[in-house]
Amino acid sequence: MIHYKNKAEIELMRESSLLVSETLALIAASIKPGMTTLQLDKIAEEFIRDNKATASFKGYHGFPFTCCMSVNDAVVHGFPTTRELVSGDVVSVDVGVFKNGFHGDSAYTFAVGEIADEVMQLMRVTKESLYKGIEKAIIGNRVGDIAHAIQDYTEKQHGYGVVRDLVGHGLGRSLHEEPQVPNFGKRGTGAKLKEGLVIAIEPMINLGTKDVFHDKDGWTIRTADGKPSAHYEHDICIQKGKADILSSFTAIEAAEKANAELCSAYMLQDTVL
Ligand code: MG
Ligand code: MG
Repeated sequence: MIHYKNKAEIELMRESSLLVSETLALIAASIKPGMTTLQLDKIAEEFIRDNKATASFKGYHGFPFTCCMSVNDAVVHGFPTTRELVSGDVVSVDVGVFKNGFHGDSAYTFAVGEIADEVMQLMRVTKESLYKGIEKAIIGNRVGDIAHAIQDYTEKQHGYGVVRDLVGHGLGRSLHEEPQVPNFGKRGTGAKLKEGLVIAIEPMINLGTKDVFHDKDGWTIRTADGKPSAHYEHDICIQKGKADILSSFTAIEAAEKANAELCSAYMLQDTVL
């Protein structure tokens, strides 16, 4: 059963989604070589608590942390660890919060220091594919139109692997509601998109093969060929003509840019000395 949201509920959901965005922006400002993903998880945990919300993932089917921290070949559902991040790592951070009875759920992939050009392109194309999907998320279309747009852009146009085992989802009072929102599929198929439907669209795109496996920790999903993966997620509400994006990457991107400039300033200093 699909739960459609009224205007007041959508505003509450926006608050939850934006709190996730602010949490991710804080991570964007903090992440650097030498930090551990466990430290970043603690930062997120405290921030969410300070904002009178709870972390949606902690305890969800037994997941033990606030954030999923998926480094390099980890696609999603990675555990934060005590390993220090090094330049060249890519970290996908997925966070959910529960506030005022509604969940927000968003993800962003961060570059640590300097990363390979091919990985940078993977991140860019994956983020772009999210917006290609959002363009199709309007009244009158179907879930398959979103799915097809993401698959066409990433797989057909760029030759990347689109993960089949995990999908986006409806969002609301529950973290995962109907319908499922895959990143692959046929135009004109699947559930009809109607006013007030809130969904999380989340392309998980691999540099190499689409195939993944479950790590022995029981949670982490990794690429079968060990190549890196990227993941971006927005919460959106279906309306006429143009989706209402409830989460926001604006502050994350600003923090990311400031962090990168600081990073290259340090490197420049090293070179001069
Ligand atoms: Mg998520
Ligand atoms: Mg999600």
